[in-house]
Amino acid sequence: MQHKRPSAALSAFLPRTREQMHLRGWDELDVLLVTGDAYVDHPSFGVPAIARLLEKRGYRVGILDCPELESDGSGWLRLPRPRLWVGVSAGTIDSMVTNYTASKKRRHKDVYRPGGLPGRPNRATIAYTAAVRHHFPGVPVVIGGLEAGPRRLAYFDYWEEKLRRSMLVDAKADLLVWGMGERTAVEISKRLERGESLRGMPNTCELVAKSDVPEGARIAPSFEAMLADVDTQIELFNILREENNPEGKVIAQQHGARFVLQHPPLPPASQEEVDEYYDLPYTREWHPDHTAAGGVPALEPVRWSINTHRGCMADCTFCSITFHQGRAIQSRSEASVLREAAKLSEMYDFRGTITDVGGPTANMWGMGCKLLEAGKGCLDRDCLSPEPCPALRIDSASEGYRRLLALVKQTRGVKHTFVSSGIRYDMLRSQKTRTKGELLPLHHDIVAHYTSGRIKLAPEHASPAVLEAMNKPSFDVYEEYEKDYKEECASMGKDQHLVNYFIVGHPGTTMKDAVLLFEKLLERNYSPEQVQEFIPLPMTRACVQYTTGKDPITLKELYVPRGGRERRLQKALVRWKEPDNKNLVLEALHEAEREDLVEPFLRALKRGSGRPRAQAVRAAEIEDLDSCG
Ligand code: SF4
Repeated sequence: MQHKRPSAALSAFLPRTREQMHLRGWDELDVLLVTGDAYVDHPSFGVPAIARLLEKRGYRVGILDCPELESDGSGWLRLPRPRLWVGVSAGTIDSMVTNYTASKKRRHKDVYRPGGLPGRPNRATIAYTAAVRHHFPGVPVVIGGLEAGPRRLAYFDYWEEKLRRSMLVDAKADLLVWGMGERTAVEISKRLERGESLRGMPNTCELVAKSDVPEGARIAPSFEAMLADVDTQIELFNILREENNPEGKVIAQQHGARFVLQHPPLPPASQEEVDEYYDLPYTREWHPDHTAAGGVPALEPVRWSINTHRGCMADCTFCSITFHQGRAIQSRSEASVLREAAKLSEMYDFRGTITDVGGPTANMWGMGCKLLEAGKGCLDRDCLSPEPCPALRIDSASEGYRRLLALVKQTRGVKHTFVSSGIRYDMLRSQKTRTKGELLPLHHDIVAHYTSGRIKLAPEHASPAVLEAMNKPSFDVYEEYEKDYKEECASMGKDQHLVNYFIVGHPGTTMKDAVLLFEKLLERNYSPEQVQEFIPLPMTRACVQYTTGKDPITLKELYVPRGGRERRLQKALVRWKEPDNKNLVLEALHEAEREDLVEPFLRALKRGSGRPRAQAVRAAEIEDLDSCG
């Protein structure tokens, strides 16, 4: 680990103990935020980001990070009972994903905790809320973050393979905040300060009696109805999708005698608002209390990166980002991004490299839709599937991003600027000629200036049926781009590579489909070090595909690979160069009736392309870390 010791003064961080409160001259807190992560004072970490905004609005905020449950509970009294409310988050990622692999094996690392050591309770939101109730009785408790948010209504739990109640019901919290929580956290503080109720706030869920369900609310299938009929998940998914906008209706879902109300989202954050969030006085360090344990590994990959925007216009079935950050791209201004670049360049241990200027999809910064901007309705299609929508401002946004990258690169003290976030290669072509048209100048610049030697692309699969189920572009689009990329690198005399990401076990993937991907990899003599095993995350279209065996939008029936053996075979087909996987690959080829590939496979292995065992183990470790991120 390169970065050893925070350089900022203790008082520059928000307090995590009473002594640190006193350093700031505080004898009481207004808000206490509890998180399963170690406190890292960086805008990529949700709880510290909310805390910094509340601090700017004048509230005294303490961060109770990694509170222990097993001990005598004294850790919970590190900070006093707050005056207004307690916020609870499991952490940056949901606790079951941080604690278990997709194969449901316990992870040995938790990169968001001190020294990377595990220790977060399962379903941490529920466990922490119970502890808050015990230690701070009578204080309003609000849950939020990436664990509670997508579990705001009844949801399928992959770890138990069963339907569970809304996390608001199970955690017995007063309120659930979903989506990006900054504005809602400020509003909660203001209301409680004024002695007002928290009822009816956008981006929240509350639990009410039947008589309090508002007229005109959209009634979703109840928890009990969902228990009785799995296909009701299709109805719930479509209700959520249709109402996921500021003009959407309140959704009401019955759980026993009560109803969970989901209020519609706030309008997308304005550029001024997003700029403000990133201009807050972050130290960009982990809290000094964590240095003795070896720091917090999750800081390293983001420490020298700049996040340019929120939201994603793609609708990949396995991702819940549109239900969390929203579909609209909320971009920072050029000036705000440049201020952050300048700030990074002034840090004591900056070595001259900005490792990333990107977001959920790097080349969506500044992306807008002509129709929505003109106040017209959407064409009711996907923004990027089956090909980019003509209403997208792809060409102008690409030019803007290109200019932004050039300006970051020109920042004093910056020697290299890279793009390491994922890039949508189908958006690198001119809008006029769409997918098969000329590549945009942005492509040239990325290859020439902004690549550290490897560009990350996520074709996710090669089988047409699987890509359709994932709502991703066809593999032809990837192959066209791959060819152009190689030609561009050759013309520049650059030895640069593409790093691909693939998902195995996604609904729709038969063994024959998995072998189609293997065939493409074999042709390229390529076996990626990282492969993601599909996890059906709540609120995703793929989760409904997994549970019902049908796509919730097209209602098309899908094959769903289940069980460890099938996943193991599919994974081995991607990591075919690992010596340990040889027999699994042969088994999969036999099962898919593709014996014709046995000889080419064995020849490829013989050519000495099998990776030594130590390298394979290292790759597995990288995957273990990366699949948390
Ligand atoms: S009109 Fe096209 S770009 Fe605009 S929101 Fe609809 S699908 Fe997306």
